Amino acid sequence: MTPAYRSAAVIFGRLDGDAMGAADRMCQRCGNSLAGKRADARFCCAGCRVNSHRDEVGRVDAITALAVIDRPMRTALIEAGALNPQHEHDAEKLREAFALMCHQFAKKHA
Ligand SMILES: [Zn+2]
Repeated sequence: MTPAYRSAAVIFGRLDGDAMGAADRMCQRCGNSLAGKRADARFCCAGCRVNSHRDEVGRVDAITALAVIDRPMRTALIEAGALNPQHEHDAEKLREAFALMCHQFAKKHA
């Protein structure tokens, strides 16, 4: 963390200093103390984080879709504003844009 970022973070209250009760925060999964963890930590360990994520998203592995993001889909993603045309052939950006579109679809029809 750069000194400039650190002072900005302190000013905006993003850092839990020792005096700010960091030890009072608890794991959102099991309630263990988050003392000594990062200021933005929500869980005490990887296990709690993973299990909580599983509860939130459900059995993702059971419904994995082998979606082919073809040219018409790429065009649609670009026109929908989900994908920057410069990233049309960047596999990671494509997956992100596709996931974003799926999320928006799910929200709209939930
Ligand atoms: Zn925990």
